Amino acid sequence: MHYLKKGGKIMLKFNVEKISIPLKQHVGAPCAAIVEVGEHVKRGQLIATPTGLGANIHASLSGTVEEVKEGEIVLKLDKEQSDDYVKLPDTDDKLQRIKDAGLVGLGGAGFPVGIKLSTKIEGGCIIANSAECEPVLSHNIKFIEENPDIIIRGLQYMIEITGAARAYIAIKTKYTKAMLAIGKACKDIPNISVKILPDMYPAGDERVIVREILGKVLDIGQLPATVGATISNVETIKRVAEAIELGKPLIDKDITVGGRVKNPQVFFDVPINLPFSEFINRTGGYVEPHGEIVKGGPFTGKHATEESVIEKTTGGILVAMPHIHGKPKVGILICECGAGEERLKEIAKAMGSEVVSVQRCKRMKPDKNGRLRCELPGICPGQAEKVLNIKKDGGQGIITGTCQD
Ligand code: SF4
Repeated sequence: MHYLKKGGKIMLKFNVEKISIPLKQHVGAPCAAIVEVGEHVKRGQLIATPTGLGANIHASLSGTVEEVKEGEIVLKLDKEQSDDYVKLPDTDDKLQRIKDAGLVGLGGAGFPVGIKLSTKIEGGCIIANSAECEPVLSHNIKFIEENPDIIIRGLQYMIEITGAARAYIAIKTKYTKAMLAIGKACKDIPNISVKILPDMYPAGDERVIVREILGKVLDIGQLPATVGATISNVETIKRVAEAIELGKPLIDKDITVGGRVKNPQVFFDVPINLPFSEFINRTGGYVEPHGEIVKGGPFTGKHATEESVIEKTTGGILVAMPHIHGKPKVGILICECGAGEERLKEIAKAMGSEVVSVQRCKRMKPDKNGRLRCELPGICPGQAEKVLNIKKDGGQGIITGTCQD
């Protein structure tokens, strides 16, 4: 058993001898390791740096480097761990702090925050994406309920860095407690206010947020910065404040563990790179019967295993019901905001079904790189035509991601 101590008090016990630290936990190219086999590293120590678009990677726990392989660093953990960490280099430059911290978008996108905030949006706005859109996931809303002030401070730093004039917290009214907490925290700050998002999926999509909060429609491929907005997920904003105020690198993560587990719950500040099994056990284990483990939310999550590790962009560890036995022949209907073709085919296979038809929502159009994107996310058309196509192709059932038609 290993122990993570804070001020002599045990914060976390875990039964893990080694951790594997992926060198790509962000959009862009893998980082390059800057440590060698046999070297002892402390929690918070910089161990890999970008080779192109990317973000620094720090050791989330202390230990000895056992292997440096292509794509990962394997660390044999010290038996006793401290919650302390190696602080980021001293600087008054807040943007540099964020870059040094290896911050990436923690809502799942993984885009380096230091690069995102390098774009000046003079007179524009920062929007805190508090949609917590995927069902089951709840760590962002719970964090706002309990610690709204740090989100407000994070937004103020982001206003200062980008030259924005104001910030909005975009949230759904169903999160009453969080909405009241953050509303109270910003009530005396003239340039920060709460804005309401509709309770629908995908309200957390950047283009939906821009449309709902600013009343501007972005074309496919257009970034929020083109209308003077920068959007960041709640936990990202929390980590911005931590990097600037505490000199803390991105080594811990907030996660929701839910679904078929005995005591679904939210965990704050757990070290990145620990395996999923540790947190499933911590909820009391599985409710039987259970099916696959999913990394992320129910709509866009990916298949995972007990050995999968928490990465910078991991928000959810969900345990599903066992797959039902599907119809022999099915069609899949793809929506940008749900599972992609590969994932839907994977689910069909697990259900014992053959995919005889692949259809896409008619709003999906190619962007300049040929990637299919939704023209009007959240303003969803009927799918009767696609259903008929599936039927014509011999499909006896449909597997789809999110469409409510
Ligand atoms: S319009 Fe189509 S692709 Fe876009 S969110 Fe709705 S169902 Fe998905």
